[in-house]
Amino acid sequence: MLKNANFIAGRPVPAASGGTLPVHDPASGDCYAQIADSDAEDIDLAVAAARRALEHGPWGLMSAMDRGRILSRFSQHIEARSAELAAIEAKDTGKPLSTAVADIAALARYFEFFGGAADKMHGEIIPYTPDHLVLLSREPMGVTGHILPWNYPAQMFGRSLAPALAMGNTTVLKPAEEACASILRLAEIASEAGLPEGALNIVTGRGATAGAALAAHPGVDFISFTGSPPVGQIIQKLAADHFIGCSLELGGKSPQLVFEDANLDAALPIILRAIIQNGGQTCSAGSRLLVQRSICATVSERLVPAFNAVRVGLSDQDLDCGPMITRAQQLRVLGFIDRARRDGIPLLAEGRIDPKVPDSGYFVTPALFGPVPRDHELAREEVFGPVLSLIPFDDEADAISLANATEYGLVAGVWTRDGARQIRVSKALRAGQVFVNCYGAGAGVELPFGGSGKSGHGREKGLVSLLEFSKTKTTVIHHG
Ligand code: NAD
Repeated sequence: MLKNANFIAGRPVPAASGGTLPVHDPASGDCYAQIADSDAEDIDLAVAAARRALEHGPWGLMSAMDRGRILSRFSQHIEARSAELAAIEAKDTGKPLSTAVADIAALARYFEFFGGAADKMHGEIIPYTPDHLVLLSREPMGVTGHILPWNYPAQMFGRSLAPALAMGNTTVLKPAEEACASILRLAEIASEAGLPEGALNIVTGRGATAGAALAAHPGVDFISFTGSPPVGQIIQKLAADHFIGCSLELGGKSPQLVFEDANLDAALPIILRAIIQNGGQTCSAGSRLLVQRSICATVSERLVPAFNAVRVGLSDQDLDCGPMITRAQQLRVLGFIDRARRDGIPLLAEGRIDPKVPDSGYFVTPALFGPVPRDHELAREEVFGPVLSLIPFDDEADAISLANATEYGLVAGVWTRDGARQIRVSKALRAGQVFVNCYGAGAGVELPFGGSGKSGHGREKGLVSLLEFSKTKTTVIHHG
């Protein structure tokens, strides 16, 4: 099922070195496929193909209307193959099948949204002097590089690629080596939908070789990176070496603030889902549950049974979560849980792993800890697993300062019926997205998304991401 080849200039191309990398099934630990283990030579080929398509066409010379039509058609082809793509994504990442189905629906929506937007980014006329006409036009960045993580391969493909292609860029994508099966299949589907050769090039391989070569390549004009903060720093330095910009979508330690007047019936199921979804391997996971002290006991009483009922299993069992993506990720999450227990933090609730799962799979039992001391690593560091930390606060000011006491700044949730407080708290929170009486960064491709601090910079999703993947040109015409 998985192609052991890159996708360059519309064709499968094996790694120049002939090297391959094993891909492991997270549910069993078995090696189930091989992908191309590419390096700088393969990146050179892909960048050259993208450059040709940019400068000589077809993609770089096509009208915005035609680009939009092709992307919209790609969206329809994705929808038509959604069952196949969801099965690939579920197998590759281990996630529950219904989560993979939702991911593919979101992927199709990205290409629908940005396909529709492609011919709606108009220029401006800037009033200047009576003797001049000043035109502000918007041009593609050129060849854009995209480096993606493993947690939502298909969704990330749509989020990063669709706006770049809509603006007329040609692209080179380095997916995560842990999970890229859906992305390799999508390259074929894109060709069938009419995406011309060179517009999308995919090079698989390791980060330190293929990824670093892409970020450092002098033929790349902009880098869009989604992944961990330390690698984000490497990317930004590599981009600086050849004077290009980058967007960094990094991690999070997102708070959910629950005030004493909150509607707990509405809040608690959503709060639980926000940490359990994708096994907590979600940048916007609501991993810090900040609860007003006066209702801490009530919240625990109601959340504990729900958390104890969380079930972990195989993707086709379609339970609440699947495995972690790799053994290393499993051990990392288990390390957080072990240290929290060793440090005497009360374990309030634990989910349950289904007996059908093989011992060799990368499964973790979801855990709810509380009260978690504010300076403990569980309150500060991104676990990237199904671990929720309950932390009490005293009043509104305390809640805001606690929520903002993090190096991250990606998403926040606010649960209160008090309208004025909804506004005050939302304004005070350092986060790229604030949800009031709801939560879910995955929803809405129209909603700009991105962070600050250790969560990175730049915005994806929504029309603003078309600005990220383009630059303005000011033309000043003197007409006397
Ligand atoms: P990672 O940083 O290890 O890997 C991400 C990508 O970078 C992979 O394709 C990898 O091969 C590549 N890479 C690794 N080292 C590289 C190097 N030296 N040079 C160039 N590329 C390199 O991250 P991960 O473990 O795949 O993903 C987990 C992290 O991603 C978490 O911190 C999570 O919060 C974050 N994430 C953020 C978002 C978001 O939108 N903000 C979305 C998903 C994941």
